Amino acid sequence: MQLVCTTCHTPLTARHDSFECPACGSVFAVAEGVPVFYPQATLYRNYDDIWELDKEFCAPTLFHRFLGSALKYWTYRERVYAQRHLVRGGDSLDLGCWTGSYTYARLSRTVTGIDLTLSAAQVASHHYNFAVQGSVACLPFAAGSFDCVVSAHLIGHVPAANKDAVVAEIHRVLKPGGKSVHFIETDSENIFVRRAKRDPDLYQKYFVERVGHNGLELPSVILKRFQRQGFVVEDVTKMDSGILPPWYYLWYLDNEYTQRQRALAGKVRLARVLCRTRVGNLTLGVLYGIYHRSWEQWFTRLDDSMHISLTVKKPS
Ligand SMILES: [Zn+2]
Repeated sequence: MQLVCTTCHTPLTARHDSFECPACGSVFAVAEGVPVFYPQATLYRNYDDIWELDKEFCAPTLFHRFLGSALKYWTYRERVYAQRHLVRGGDSLDLGCWTGSYTYARLSRTVTGIDLTLSAAQVASHHYNFAVQGSVACLPFAAGSFDCVVSAHLIGHVPAANKDAVVAEIHRVLKPGGKSVHFIETDSENIFVRRAKRDPDLYQKYFVERVGHNGLELPSVILKRFQRQGFVVEDVTKMDSGILPPWYYLWYLDNEYTQRQRALAGKVRLARVLCRTRVGNLTLGVLYGIYHRSWEQWFTRLDDSMHISLTVKKPS
């Protein structure tokens, strides 16, 4: 992997325990095998507490693989989407990789990870071919290094002011004809979110700050950003754009919202009952999966989505 200077894009020279830029003299330390490009930055020190499940780098068991095919698009919808859209056997870059993804590693020839949190990148470096600590707005990789650039739940965390820089960097490091696959948290015009926004302070607290979503944009706005940088949109899959699963009521509204908006209290109570048992959750997962694959894709509006899966291509 040819690393380049994040300031001037000159190829870096490897030293004993650092990388050095021969042009501008910048020096980048290496911490436990991970080059550090954006020192002192840690995003989400307590991220582990928020997404307990996401930090595990684990191969799906046979049972999970069965569930994955049965429940497509719900619990496993992102894995299924990655299997369909990632460049198989290519060199992939995982932006905001956290501790790494088993699926990306399995589908790619090589995977490189980059994360702002050094400890996460160090864990990823054990699973991936290579990992670095750095910002996705200035990638330390040479132009045309990758067949595929992926990100999961990253773009909604990037402030609007930095987004164009991130998309331009993805374009730069992709080979011509390369693909970029993203799972993106979005702003939404659906009823659930519109109602939540009636209490702006609670919306800020539970929809933005609690989950670090400080860069939510409508799906149509995100598509335009990628198109402006020269990408061709290959696929957009809507998620959570119509009937929302009851989980959403528990994640976002089972708090002061139920006191402020009385009409929500009953819905949250119903969600609690529906999600109480494993059988209930599984049944809902299957029903929601069927709905997601059919009605949601056919009849709901793109800008009602709370998440999208997006695949874009850099023309050859
Ligand atoms: Zn330099």
